[in-house]
Amino acid sequence: MSNKRKITNAVGNPYLNHENSQTVGSRGPVLLQDYILHENLAHFVRERIPERVVHAKGSGAYGKFTVTHDITQYTRAKLFSKIGNECKTFVRFSTVGGEKGSADTERDPRGFAVKFYTEDGNWDLVGNNTPVFFIKDAKKFPDLIHTQKRNPKTNLKSATAAWDFWSLNPESLHQVLILMSDRGTPYGYRHMNGYGSHTFSMINDKGIRHWVKFHFKTQQGIKNFTSAEATEMKGKNPDFSQQDLVEAIENGNFPKWTLYIQVMTEEQAKDFRWNPFDVTKVWPHSDFPLIEAGELELNEIPVNYFAHVEQSAFAPNHLIDGISFSPDKMLQGRLFSYADAQRYRVGVNASQLPVNACPFQVNNYQRDGFMALGNNGGDAPNYYPNSFDDLQPDPAYQNYEEELGSSLISNFDSNKDDNDHFSQPGTFYAQTLNAQGKQNLVQNIVEHMNGIQGPKRELIINRQLCHFFRANIELGMKIAAGLQITLDPSQMHHSK
Ligand code: NDP
Repeated sequence: MSNKRKITNAVGNPYLNHENSQTVGSRGPVLLQDYILHENLAHFVRERIPERVVHAKGSGAYGKFTVTHDITQYTRAKLFSKIGNECKTFVRFSTVGGEKGSADTERDPRGFAVKFYTEDGNWDLVGNNTPVFFIKDAKKFPDLIHTQKRNPKTNLKSATAAWDFWSLNPESLHQVLILMSDRGTPYGYRHMNGYGSHTFSMINDKGIRHWVKFHFKTQQGIKNFTSAEATEMKGKNPDFSQQDLVEAIENGNFPKWTLYIQVMTEEQAKDFRWNPFDVTKVWPHSDFPLIEAGELELNEIPVNYFAHVEQSAFAPNHLIDGISFSPDKMLQGRLFSYADAQRYRVGVNASQLPVNACPFQVNNYQRDGFMALGNNGGDAPNYYPNSFDDLQPDPAYQNYEEELGSSLISNFDSNKDDNDHFSQPGTFYAQTLNAQGKQNLVQNIVEHMNGIQGPKRELIINRQLCHFFRANIELGMKIAAGLQITLDPSQMHHSK
């Protein structure tokens, strides 16, 4: 008997003929009884699970997070209880608008999703490489994304739809400027920062809450493609970011990020000149300095892309004690939609898969459903309370008891009384970008806006130009000149 491992079907029956189908004679038709043939074909045609509707193209790696500084005055999270604490992590980076096979160097925000496997369960910090977002209310999200995807008729990406939507939703300007700067085409995933983007909260051991923002700063240094380089790389190597990440880690060149938090007290939040829960705004570093907390290192490419990267399921509602959410409307929408997306895409038992599973205790009364792995709770009781097991809710995990300022239910338009969409984009242009950065920004916007087509071209351009002007006159002038627009002051009041 040979020592070699045998080829088997899915239930372990060894078989001999992997390549030749069973036929009647040498040239006759194939027999239905060749169950190896149909098992393999049937499995093959079911290989794909639904593609993520956003963030479909991604790369992932395992690593570790180490606490380097004491932030226990802000959080009672066990992870942060001691300097030197470590936990395993999984990170998935991605582009947003493209399909699973799209090019890595597209101009797009980048997803930066971190899963911390902590002793208090998994914590997912599901952010981007930019500190802000296009919109501040999740009700607008499906519409925004439709403008970033393909036109229903032509099946082409549409600059017309993108600028139509952005110009009608001026709160997008901050994110649009960052997207159109060279940070919209990062040099792979190792050379960009990550941001939790939303405002979160931390609860300390005295039950006091602070508002926080999370920032991962790359230790590799910021590096971006210019627009021309990014376009060239789409043809040369559409998988540039995947290859860059795999090769760096396989060569032992482990990428690292430093985690900082910004902290705002509840009192400061009341007086802050912007709504602190508005994800289209940043908290200026001069007012809310970065506080160092830890280090993230990526050091292992998963052995199987599909099992670990494709099936990874992140959801911002996976939160650990001591870290919580805020009234940020985008975050509140995501608390629902991410978990919902994973139930649809991977299934109701997604959290049982190795990449998603908590390596520590999981005790609950959830049972059954598609693909229940393991022993599905075995013979333990599947209801609570019961007289048989010893599971008890632990009073140490008391939720933060929140006093709400209002009992009015409304569909408040957060753009109405909270409509400063322009000063932070203005600061970004005037103070954050250097001369070269400004020049590239203008050129990238002009190139992109030149893709606006059809009878509404002029209307959309004029409406968007108003926003640029309101952020910074020089920016508006330069973009108008680049688009060869003769400014007509009567058109300048079209903004929403
Ligand atoms: P600061 O000068 O204190 O901070 C500016 C931040 O901008 C730094 O974190 C820096 O990150 C980042 N930055 C530098 N160059 C660029 C660029 N070309 N594109 C995007 N980001 C860049 O100023 P403020 O805190 O007052 O913020 C000013 C503006 O900077 C904001 O309106 C916002 O557009 C942008 N910004 C602000 C952040 C914040 O959380 N306050 C975070 C990121 C951007 P690094 O040093 O790591 O490169």
